[in-house]
Amino acid sequence: MQAELLVSVGNAGIWLDEHIRHLESHDILPVARAANDATYETDFGRIYLLAQDGALQVRIESPDEAALTTLQGSITHYLAETDPVLAKTITWSGVAPAPGQPKNFRKMTVAQVQPLSSWLLRMTLKGEDLAPFDQRGLHVRLMFPEVPGDRETVWPTIEPSGAVHYPDGDNSLTVRVYTIRQIRPESGEVDIDIVRHAGGAFADWSETAQPGDAVGMLGPGGGYFPPEGWLAIGGDDTAVPAILRILENRPNQTGGHVVIGLHSHQAPFEIALPANFMIDWVSTADLVDAMKAIAAPATGNGTYWFAGEAEQARALRTHFKSTLELPAERRSSAAYWRRTEPA
Ligand SMILES: Cc1cc2nc3c(=O)[nH]c(=O)nc-3n(C[C@H](O)[C@H](O)[C@H](O)COP(=O)(O)OP(=O)(O)OC[C@H]3O[C@@H](n4cnc5c(N)ncnc54)[C@H](O)[C@@H]3O)c2cc1C
Repeated sequence: MQAELLVSVGNAGIWLDEHIRHLESHDILPVARAANDATYETDFGRIYLLAQDGALQVRIESPDEAALTTLQGSITHYLAETDPVLAKTITWSGVAPAPGQPKNFRKMTVAQVQPLSSWLLRMTLKGEDLAPFDQRGLHVRLMFPEVPGDRETVWPTIEPSGAVHYPDGDNSLTVRVYTIRQIRPESGEVDIDIVRHAGGAFADWSETAQPGDAVGMLGPGGGYFPPEGWLAIGGDDTAVPAILRILENRPNQTGGHVVIGLHSHQAPFEIALPANFMIDWVSTADLVDAMKAIAAPATGNGTYWFAGEAEQARALRTHFKSTLELPAERRSSAAYWRRTEPA
């Protein structure tokens, strides 16, 4: 299915260049690029951008409506960051975003919460029609009402522009990104592994969540399985669910190097490594240096992957790109959380 957008911006060429630069900053590269157009292939479908006659044209082709909704949302999100007033006015032709809840939203309920260790909690969620969450992207947005109470929860809706509209005021939601650690679409279950840290709205809520509590789930989005071949993969506690899921999906013949950074109150645990993988457990303070110390294989073609605190992710993004000079498809460094002063 297909959807199109025509945005009259006058300086369309500049918008196109800016949009491409924005995607490149997320390590997303076009598969084709000419002076006034660019084409992207993603797990959610194809995006075609064209700057012509004072307008920016966007065409999306996706295999299903959930994937189309995701791509429409990401285009609108970019436009909203660049020109919020303009973004409000845009409308899609072809398959326009259907009013109501986003096609990639599921209302889930808590089935079980169990501690995996002193610092990690597993929350199992139950819901329907989960097959799309097993196919694209590793991550989801989870949400619950910010203000507890008996009134009915108001979930996000989709705006005509394709943007996700989150309720505000008394109906506000606490929204956080987590990794799907395991998914069993046949039994309608998803496991989310949550790092326990006092003072986090989501972390604190998960400690007291009860079976039957409602949780909204939007996605999947972003974070892909790295390509085949040798892999250097590292991160802190928040990246452990993603690292384990990625390692479980590595074909046996590839090797690599894992580095996990732990805080002083956390202890290493048993991990079933794929063949030819080695692992280093380090303190979070040494994580960046430990990642930098991993030597690439003599054969070349290695991939470097990191996720963790924003400053560490930034340092390693620069290292992968500028020092190791890795192409975008063989490097990824993502900020999973940002150290701020607790409110
Ligand atoms: C793509 C992606 C995937 C992620 N996957 C997971 C996952 O599978 N499991 C997981 O646990 N987290 C994961 N995270 C990280 C998680 O979203 C953040 O840690 C989030 O801030 C937790 O929300 P909170 O409401 O508990 O804390 P917040 O209310 O957001 O933060 C409150 C305070 O706690 C600090 N803080 C936030 N997170 C941590 C932390 N982990 N340790 C110590 N201090 C912290 C903040 O700096 C702030 O001062 C992921 C993030 C991204 C972007």
